[in-house]
Amino acid sequence: MGLRICYQPGQGRGVVSGGLVLLEPSESNAELAAQLSHLCTHVEDGLGDGCARGSEAARASEERARGREDRLRQRLALPLRVGPAAADEDYARRCPAR
Ligand SMILES: [Zn+2]
Repeated sequence: MGLRICYQPGQGRGVVSGGLVLLEPSESNAELAAQLSHLCTHVEDGLGDGCARGSEAARASEERARGREDRLRQRLALPLRVGPAAADEDYARRCPAR
C-alpha cells in the first residue's frame, strides 16, 4: 500500500483527501497513530474520495476503521471516540449526487 502523509496545521482530526492522508502536527504521536490506523483502513479499502464505491462500502469501511482505531486507542491508553459513526451523514455531504 503506497501512502502519502501531509502534516497540515489547523487540519484537526486527520482525513483522506485525494489519496493523501492529512494529519494535524500538534497532536501527540499516540493520537496520530490512532488516527492513522483509521485512515489507513480507508486507503486500504480503496474508497478513493469515498463516493465511487457507494454508501454500503463507505459504511463497512467506517465500521472496520473504527474497530481498528478503538483497539489501538485501548492499547495506547487514549480516550475512545464517542458518538455514533457518521458514515451516512459524511457520505451524503461528500457525495450529494448519489
Ligand atoms: Zn472514517
